[in-house]
Amino acid sequence: MGWWFGIKLWKRVFLGLILGVAFGFFVSQSMDPVAGEALLAKVRIIGDVFIRLIRMIVVPLVFFTLVAGIYAMGDPKKLGTIGVKAFVLYLATTFFANLIGLGMGTLLRPGAGVDLGGAEPKQMGEMQPIGERLMAIIPENPFMALVQGDILAVIFFALLLGVGLLMARENGQPAGRFFEAISEGILKMTHVIMELAPFGVFGLIAYTAGTQGIETFQAILTLTIAVYAGCALHMIIVYGGLVRIFLGLPFVGFFRGILDPMMVAYSTSSSSATLPVTIRAATENLGIKKSVAGSVLPLGATINMDGTSLYLGIVALFTAQAFGYTLEPQHYFLIALTCALVSIGTAGVPSASLFLLAIVLEVFDVSPEHVAIVIGFIFPFDRILDMMRTVTNVSGDTAVATAVAKWEGELDEDVFRSRPLS
Ligand code: ASP
Repeated sequence: MGWWFGIKLWKRVFLGLILGVAFGFFVSQSMDPVAGEALLAKVRIIGDVFIRLIRMIVVPLVFFTLVAGIYAMGDPKKLGTIGVKAFVLYLATTFFANLIGLGMGTLLRPGAGVDLGGAEPKQMGEMQPIGERLMAIIPENPFMALVQGDILAVIFFALLLGVGLLMARENGQPAGRFFEAISEGILKMTHVIMELAPFGVFGLIAYTAGTQGIETFQAILTLTIAVYAGCALHMIIVYGGLVRIFLGLPFVGFFRGILDPMMVAYSTSSSSATLPVTIRAATENLGIKKSVAGSVLPLGATINMDGTSLYLGIVALFTAQAFGYTLEPQHYFLIALTCALVSIGTAGVPSASLFLLAIVLEVFDVSPEHVAIVIGFIFPFDRILDMMRTVTNVSGDTAVATAVAKWEGELDEDVFRSRPLS
């Protein structure tokens, strides 16, 4: 077994993908269609088990990692100065990510003409007024929100609880440490569950390849192009623009300085796992002082996920296009807002956001059947998309940390301009 675990997880996931495609095609070509589909449906069960396991941990993962992430800021004074600046910038960059994501989804129409099966979408009911939807983000009873998996309300409550624990200083420490410990435990659980990913991917993709054929891959290709192009544009225009135009610092130097974390993010698909490398690159290559890097970057790895927000917007449009849901202008607004909020609650671990997609799709009343189809369809390929959105998430954290450091007088520009490559 040692040799298996010796292979990097992402390579094993790709192996599962390739073998699953081959197996699906083989079964569809060589067996009687009815018996073939029955066999593939059995193989798919492995994928369904995997997806259920992930869904199981979504609510605790969001809740505990978010409280622990805010609590990790350590010093309540940082909430006032550095924290507020970072928070506002994080929100601002996420706003642009939403625009780019929805723009890409509208322009490239990745879901147009894709047949994913499933029933016709039912007529959308009267939309709940926007004001009411926004109000529902504040839970009347946070425990009820946790039990019912009302993620937006959970995110709102978790953010405030994290701040509250910080403000309670020494008295809040036992509870803060409790959240940190549980969050660590849940992240470990996620790692264990992710070990099943290669098999889950195999089961899901074998079914899709064997029953739906080659067109599937075309749809995924357009989706991938939309996500990659969107993330690249976002990094160049928004982060590059922030660094070059607003901070007057060299654009290339910035990206050269964060090459290491970008590469680690691409290969691990986890902002949290990349965090130590991000902090090192920020302090050693960009000249950001530890006081800023040590607080802004962990906060970013918890709440700032521009790539995730951008991706969720594109997948929401993909779903609407594939199943034929008609979107009104107010839907676009609500999708953007929900993507931004969901991205705040997304933990920095592989594939976290795919399982929060359902919350975004609720905005235009996508049926549970369609939600399950979309998640099962995208999941086998999600790793490829996740790699790029994680790179974007991590780059966004460093861009914001650079800005905050410059405005706080905590940036050593000589180091930044010397552009060393570690
Ligand atoms: N994997 C991403 C990250 O760690 C989160 C996501 O699934 O979008 O940043």
